[in-house]
Amino acid sequence: MTESEEITEIRRAVQALCADFPGEYWREKDRDRAYPGEFVDALTRSGFLAALIPEEFGGSGLSLDAAAVIMEEIQAAGCNGASAHAQMYIMNTLLRYGSAEQKAKYLPGIADGSLRLQAFGVSEPTSGTDTLSLRTVAVRDGDEYVVNGQKIWTSRAEYSDLMLLLARTTPRDQVKSKTEGLSIFLVDMREVVGKGMTIKPIRTMMNHSTTEVFFDDMRIPASALIGEEGKGFRYILSGMNAERILIAAECVGDAKWFISKASDYAKDRSVFARPIGQNQGVQFPIARCYAQMRAAELMVHHAAQVYDQGGNPGEEANMAKLLASEASWAAADMCVQTHGGFGFAEEYDVERKFREARLYTVAPISTNLILSYLAEHVLGLPRSY
Ligand SMILES: Cc1cc2nc3c(=O)[nH]c(=O)nc-3n(C[C@H](O)[C@H](O)[C@H](O)COP(=O)(O)OP(=O)(O)OC[C@H]3O[C@@H](n4cnc5c(N)ncnc54)[C@H](O)[C@@H]3O)c2cc1C
Repeated sequence: MTESEEITEIRRAVQALCADFPGEYWREKDRDRAYPGEFVDALTRSGFLAALIPEEFGGSGLSLDAAAVIMEEIQAAGCNGASAHAQMYIMNTLLRYGSAEQKAKYLPGIADGSLRLQAFGVSEPTSGTDTLSLRTVAVRDGDEYVVNGQKIWTSRAEYSDLMLLLARTTPRDQVKSKTEGLSIFLVDMREVVGKGMTIKPIRTMMNHSTTEVFFDDMRIPASALIGEEGKGFRYILSGMNAERILIAAECVGDAKWFISKASDYAKDRSVFARPIGQNQGVQFPIARCYAQMRAAELMVHHAAQVYDQGGNPGEEANMAKLLASEASWAAADMCVQTHGGFGFAEEYDVERKFREARLYTVAPISTNLILSYLAEHVLGLPRSY
């Protein structure tokens, strides 16, 4: 794959930034389950988190394909972009469907780092993957909406100023199609935390700053609505394609990290008076992971390019996410195996990255649901649920 000079330059710049955040930094944050604020600040200062914001609003107006490269390089350097990746993928909903006023109000602040857009409130405890059954409701009351309900797994909510929230505005039994009647809001969390919005952290197997969020008669201005009332599901699906592509790029970066770490170790570690990497039983799994990663990488860039041309590449984005999350998880497992007992020692960073990489065959969409999408919408098989 030949890349433009611009992309090569982005790769170099991200690598240089990440070099200031080595394994010890992430280990400490992981141990304390602490937010890597210094890393996110550095990414913000460098302008990388404003990559997708048009230049007129203070961003660099890069393509989704370039944004994917930024996320990939962060992971390939051993860092964890999950602390900040939502800003990139939530951005697309605001850019594609936000009004001129909303863009003018929020984008410059997001671009200069004075505002963080890091929270995405979709998942709920009872509906799970069945997003259309979500129960959070927003009821119009004069110039406001009143929101009641609960979200779960709203990551980074404690470290965000803005939340993109999906809620039902028309009851399900009053709409023709169940995809109608959902709306998206850009919630200014600074106005509502403690006044209708309560955030409770959830401790997880890796350092992910995820939370439960409760809405109790939370009042937000009607101007927080993005696009048309009731059309939110369509908007969110388009944003989710961008999310899947960017997460897939992160998985490719993770796979690169695991493959490089395993190759270096296999060359260096000597057992039975020869490097373990001389044994085909050790070489072949690394080589297989490399081939798997490269195939996923091609699909990620293909999906990003279709998105950049204005399309909604449901098929390609889903396949990119499927292939890349499986490639990163296979590489994670291979890397532990290659390291033997040392794969379990904190100081090698392998066990931390292993825990972090496990997420992506489950979230933001699980493998089964991608397979269902491909079976039904691409191959025309009967709907299974
Ligand atoms: C660390 C973390 C961070 C997250 N961050 C966010 C966030 O910021 N914002 C947000 O909105 N969400 C977030 N999520 C939620 C995430 O998107 C969901 O966990 C994911 O979509 C799976 O939904 P679920 O957990 O409800 O699983 P369920 O829907 O309960 O599914 C459980 C299992 O059953 C399978 N399954 C369910 N239905 C079917 C079917 N019809 N056919 C075949 N298999 C099926 C699924 O594939 C899955 O393996 C996060 C999750 C985690 C763990």
